[in-house]
Amino acid sequence: MQDLSSKLAIVTGATSGIGLEMARGLATMGATVLVHGRTDESAGKAVAEIASTCGHDRLHPIAADLSTLDTVRSFAESIMSQASQIDILCNNAGVFRTERTLSADGYELHFAVNHLAPFLLTNLLLEGLKASAPARIITTASAAHKGAKLDLDDVMFSRRSFRPYAAYGQSKLANILFTRALARRIEGSGVTATCFHPGVVATEIARGRGLTAKVFNLARPFFKTPRKGAKTGVFLASDPSVDGANGDYFVDCLKTQPEISANSESLENALWDLSLDLVEA
Ligand code: NAD
Repeated sequence: MQDLSSKLAIVTGATSGIGLEMARGLATMGATVLVHGRTDESAGKAVAEIASTCGHDRLHPIAADLSTLDTVRSFAESIMSQASQIDILCNNAGVFRTERTLSADGYELHFAVNHLAPFLLTNLLLEGLKASAPARIITTASAAHKGAKLDLDDVMFSRRSFRPYAAYGQSKLANILFTRALARRIEGSGVTATCFHPGVVATEIARGRGLTAKVFNLARPFFKTPRKGAKTGVFLASDPSVDGANGDYFVDCLKTQPEISANSESLENALWDLSLDLVEA
């Protein structure tokens, strides 16, 4: 097991599922962990749960609703004021909804929580990460990017008819494109960015009344446990064998080619520019 006792990690969406187990995995290796939840209560409960198994008390609850960009900004400020270093940032919080829902900013919820929030948070914490280099940024993406379309003219599904899996898949494709675009921008800084598919994991992510959520929830007993789902994320955050891995997508702890054209650089840059516009709007 790696010794992370000199490291500070942030895990978003650490109150349940994959994030809770990533936070536990990193804490078990000795890391100080900022355990993020949507509310103080849920973050506090997650800290108590992890503390009961990890063997130390360097766990700190931190709360923010990441669907709203102003809250992401205050979340980043709060982290910068609490943390003297940031060695590991795990962008894990995510949603799956069967109905088209808009955030308080008027953005489609999958795009807002799953892509724009980690995009903004990472950029706001980047100086802190660079100052702590070597540092790692890990984003929980998904195999749901396969076959998904990023429609830069209608990322919010305002004109296309809303299909939950298409909206979720678009946001998860955005996670991979973001990781690649970020990797180019931080090359040589000592900070690296990777992303991963955790497998199909028995969590509470599928919310709503639609068919996709019903099927997911019925099949849950056959899926990976959250602890197994967290394994690749913990590996990317801690393992020396992936020192320097930058811009890569992993499945089962192995570098894997995502189903994206090898020449996606212009799409990655276009997403980056659109995301900058949307977070500054
Ligand atoms: P989960 O519902 O157990 O966890 C999601 C976490 O995100 C929770 O802590 C939740 O509170 C947090 N979150 C959601 N909306 C938020 C908001 N507005 N503000 C702050 N926090 C918010 O589900 P999970 O399956 O563990 O999902 C974690 C990540 O794994 C997601 O990014 C998801 O897309 C990804 N993923 C999951 C699967 C799977 O099969 N479960 C597969 C591939 C990828």
